Amino acid sequence: MSNSTKYIFVTGGVTSSLGKGIISASLAKLLQARGHSVTIQKLDPYINIDPGTLNPYEHGECYVTNDGAETDLDLGHYERFLNVPTSQANNVTTGRIYQSVINKERRGEFLGKTVQIIPHITDEIKHRIQILGKSGEFDIVITEIGGTVGDIESLPYIESVRQMLWEKRNQCLVIHLTLVPFLQAAGELKTKPTQHSVKQMLEVGVQPDILVCRTEHHLDDSIRRKIALFCNVAQESVIESIDASSIYEVPIMMQNEKLDEVVLQKLGLPDNGAPELKEWKDFLHKLQNPKKIVTVGLVGKYIELKDSYKSIAEALEHAGATNECDVKVKWIHSEKLNAENVSDQLKGLDGVLVAPGFGSRGIEGKITAVQFVRENNIPFFGICLGMQCAVIEYARNVLGWENAHSTEISKMCEQPVIDLMEEQKSITNLGGTMRLGSYDCELTEGSHIFNAYQEKDIKERHRHRFEFNSKYLNDFESNGMKATGKNPETGLVEVVEVSSHPWFVGAQFHPEYKSTVEQPHPLFIAFIQAAIKKQEVKIGSKEMSK
Ligand code: GLN
Repeated sequence: MSNSTKYIFVTGGVTSSLGKGIISASLAKLLQARGHSVTIQKLDPYINIDPGTLNPYEHGECYVTNDGAETDLDLGHYERFLNVPTSQANNVTTGRIYQSVINKERRGEFLGKTVQIIPHITDEIKHRIQILGKSGEFDIVITEIGGTVGDIESLPYIESVRQMLWEKRNQCLVIHLTLVPFLQAAGELKTKPTQHSVKQMLEVGVQPDILVCRTEHHLDDSIRRKIALFCNVAQESVIESIDASSIYEVPIMMQNEKLDEVVLQKLGLPDNGAPELKEWKDFLHKLQNPKKIVTVGLVGKYIELKDSYKSIAEALEHAGATNECDVKVKWIHSEKLNAENVSDQLKGLDGVLVAPGFGSRGIEGKITAVQFVRENNIPFFGICLGMQCAVIEYARNVLGWENAHSTEISKMCEQPVIDLMEEQKSITNLGGTMRLGSYDCELTEGSHIFNAYQEKDIKERHRHRFEFNSKYLNDFESNGMKATGKNPETGLVEVVEVSSHPWFVGAQFHPEYKSTVEQPHPLFIAFIQAAIKKQEVKIGSKEMSK
């Protein structure tokens, strides 16, 4: 299939945050549901090599793939919608493009030529776009271009699109997202920003084939006609993207707008009947018709920007839908949590999830949260740093080692119960050097985690430098905290549990990355089940005391 692979480019104009990632994922879902193999790639115009070194406040969560790439959070949406893993090839930044061109230059591969943006940088971009297409695995590659047209840093990408449109005529398509704002004072939707945005595309030689217009109000026929006329597209290529209450509705909305049909027709692909979306619709139905509600606390230090915990929030939603339960999340700032207010903050919650993170800020709040939920039998789910906090808390309050800590925070602490991994000790560079990506884990039969997965050998994704210090394993196990998941090769402790607690699970890995609409994650499902149970016990005991 490699030479007939179709390429769809998704660009954005007028403003950022129009939802290019969700539109790309929704279109991909519709095409996949029609039997095509589709993948999505994100090109990010910033100079960082990857988002691994970025503060989550900048771009939200760093999403990790099976092959250990630290990527943009949109890749999470791609996996959640398509249920197909992505890889390093699915996310490319300007930094990576330049790094590889400069490395080639240093190796003398340009044979003395002057190295320039055109053709060398654009060639590298085109090469990266086509890696997935040439793999032969995909009929269609959707490439989302980060940023907004008109940004200086997006120019080489749009230029590369222009070149590909020319070189691969009939194989390429451009979808441009714009905003159609509603002016309250005029009582009207305005098309001018869309017209300007398309003009900007034309200035750099690209005519969009399809316009997806983000709007708060329906686009009537006259607006569609006007946009079509001014922007040189057919009226059926003006697609309305109205605000939705859930991102998971967007594929259905795009199907109603016939985005998939227009795309197939423009790419010359056969239309073999409606997409098969039964599973998707079943999920949506459950999501929108919950039979119960639970409230779980999410304790983290980046909660001002909820995108920092995107995959966790989505995994909770998937698990909620599976249990026909609306999962309300109470966002709790770990920095503001202390022994005085913890009871007020956490009392009454049906479960508490302590989030991943780095560094010392907010860590004592996380440890305090763990102590409260452990002592009050509230279901607990700790992920990565959250698991490490559970270990520190147990050491301090059950083993009585009040100075126990992680050497990430306190290098010289008395009991370094969480310590730097051996292979990390010689590493000085920050980018891409953690223990990253998918590793095997062997679970102990009969444990909470085993009961969740119903299998012994699992694979999960990682992103950490520190680990449970196995030197202390006996002390923990003989006092009730068990290692119920280990890496089979190294013995590294991946999961801890307190068996006497209704549901207390800390995982060194990040299960949230693997939860998708079609495969909600078993560990999140089990956590929500434990929260539902907790609520039933609560209601039961209230009734008893009446
Ligand atoms: N900071 C911890 C470590 O590096 C935990 C990382 C995380 O939560 N992703 O091990």
